[in-house]
Amino acid sequence: MKLLIVDDEKIVQTILEAMTKEWGYEVILATNGEDAWEILQSIDEPVILLVDWIMVGMDGVALCKKVKESEKATHAHVIMLTAKSEMEDLVIGFGAGADDFLSKPVDPRELSSRLSVARRILKYKYDLEQRNLALQATTKVMENILKELHTTNEKLRVLSMLDELTGVPNRRSLDDYLAREWGYAMRRTEPLTLLMIDVDFFKLYNDTYGHQAGDDCLQKVAGILNDTTTRSGDLVARYGGEEFVIALRNTDSLGGQAVAECLRQRVEDLRIVHSASEISPYVTISLGIATMVPEPKHSQKALIEAADKALYQAKHGGRNQWVALSS
Ligand code: GH3
Ligand code: MG
Ligand code: MG
Repeated sequence: MKLLIVDDEKIVQTILEAMTKEWGYEVILATNGEDAWEILQSIDEPVILLVDWIMVGMDGVALCKKVKESEKATHAHVIMLTAKSEMEDLVIGFGAGADDFLSKPVDPRELSSRLSVARRILKYKYDLEQRNLALQATTKVMENILKELHTTNEKLRVLSMLDELTGVPNRRSLDDYLAREWGYAMRRTEPLTLLMIDVDFFKLYNDTYGHQAGDDCLQKVAGILNDTTTRSGDLVARYGGEEFVIALRNTDSLGGQAVAECLRQRVEDLRIVHSASEISPYVTISLGIATMVPEPKHSQKALIEAADKALYQAKHGGRNQWVALSS
């Protein structure tokens, strides 16, 4: 253990050095506060300071204060050495940050005991600091893990709302959307229009071109639906299989019919060859349109059922067309 003896009296230095070296301390000598402070800068490990109270230049109390206010504070245990033992002086010394006191002339047994206590305290502080550092490192790691978890959860949440194949919102998103928009439209007495869309003769398309081609076709259709429905507040969702639903906020039946016709035309214009279709050389869609100004006696289910009914009529009416039902 390093021991820095700071005393301007040569004789005191020599006596203290002789004693403490004997006990195994690695002794360094300084004759005033400035020198001691200088020496301290090159010491990175725990150190005990035996500091004389009265010295020329920076005295013991000033040195003690400087050490205790520096980053060395926890590594340096300061024992003040003084002929003074008045209560007032003790208070000043402890106020300056001194850890302990010894009166001159120094009794070797007392010095040895005080140094042992100093070593013990420094060790506690060192251990505590190490634990603190380890704790800080662990906290940092935990914080990073939590951040990653949060990001992953957010990604998962978004993914869980999207259809894997087409990338458009899935049925769960539609349910959430309708729950939200239903109340919104009711409060404002605004119409909500739903388009139920189904690819015509899609089973035959799969049978003719294979399931992979079927998937590609669904992606293209979803792309067109998405590109055509650009108003914020509207939603395109994959309802299941080859069926999609589009919800149009604050839109009446006529508005829904305009969107439906546009979609029908644009899908046909994709010119996805469908040789097995009984009604067109290309892939087409049928659409059912239902509009409601929600009221407490209505339900979202009724709106979906109405759109489904309209779709059924469009299929039976020959496909590649839309039918609108209002209620
Ligand atoms: P309709 O004109 O009356 O709608 O006839 P349809 O053949 O389109 O209707 P049907 O309900 O008989 O067939 C739907 C087909 O859609 C059957 C099913 O295998 C296919 N399908 C459902 N989901 C997917 C999918 O994710 N990928 C592919 N490739 N096909 C799908
Ligand atoms: Mg279907
Ligand atoms: Mg179909």
